Amino acid sequence: MVIDTHAHLDFHQFDEDRDEVIKRAIDAGVERIVCCGCDTESSKRCIDLAKQYDLIDATVGIHPSDADQWNDEVANNFVVQSALSEVVAIGEIGLDYYRMRHSEDMQKKAFREQLALAKEVGLPVIIHTRDSARDVYDLLIESGLERVTLHCFNESLEFAEKAWARGWKLGFGGTITYPKNEELRKVVAAAPEGLFVLETDCPFLPPQSHRGERNEPAFITEVAAVVSDIRRYQE
Ligand SMILES: [Zn+2]
Repeated sequence: MVIDTHAHLDFHQFDEDRDEVIKRAIDAGVERIVCCGCDTESSKRCIDLAKQYDLIDATVGIHPSDADQWNDEVANNFVVQSALSEVVAIGEIGLDYYRMRHSEDMQKKAFREQLALAKEVGLPVIIHTRDSARDVYDLLIESGLERVTLHCFNESLEFAEKAWARGWKLGFGGTITYPKNEELRKVVAAAPEGLFVLETDCPFLPPQSHRGERNEPAFITEVAAVVSDIRRYQE
C-alpha cells in the first residue's frame, strides 16, 4: 500500500484515459493520490477530481511559475476551498529561481502570503523549491509552519538535514531512480523514518524504466522499490 503524495492528474495529459490511469494505480496498490493544484484553474480541477474519486485528495495553491496570478480574490477563494473536506493542503507553492518566470520579489510575495493563508486555515503546505533553498528555508521559518513537505526534493544533503531538524518531510519521486542521481540516493539513505514521503509528480519525471513516457501514479511502485533497496527494508 502506498500513497502518491504529489500528482497532477488534472492535467490534459490524462484527459483521454484518466479512469484507466486511476484503475491501474489501484491495481498497483496505490491507496491515495494527492492531486496538487498549481494555479486557480488546476486547483479547481483537483477539487472536482477529489469529489469524483474516493482515493483522490486535492490541494490548492499558486505555483511560483504562476506567481502573477496571486491576488486577494484568489486568496479568498482558497480560504473558502480550504474548508472543503477534499482539500488537504496548500500547494504547490514555493520559489523557483531556475525558471525565473517571475521576479524573486513577486514569487516571494505569493509564497509568503500563501504560507500565512495555510497557517490561517490550519493546513499543511507542499513546497516547490528549485535553486532557491535558502529563501525557501527562511520564509518557512518566518511562517512558523510545522507541517511542511518539500516536494520532489532535489537539493543538497545539508539542506535536507536542516529540513529534518525542523520536522519537515521530503518528497522522493522518479528522480531518485536515475543512475546519475547518486547524491540524491544518499539523501534517501539518510532520511529519518517518518520524515519522507513518496510521490510521482506525474505526468512529469517518470522513473527510470519509463523514461520518455508519461508518468502515472502506478509507477510509484518503482520509486518505492528503490527506496526499499536503498534503506534495506525487509519484506
Ligand atoms: Zn508538481
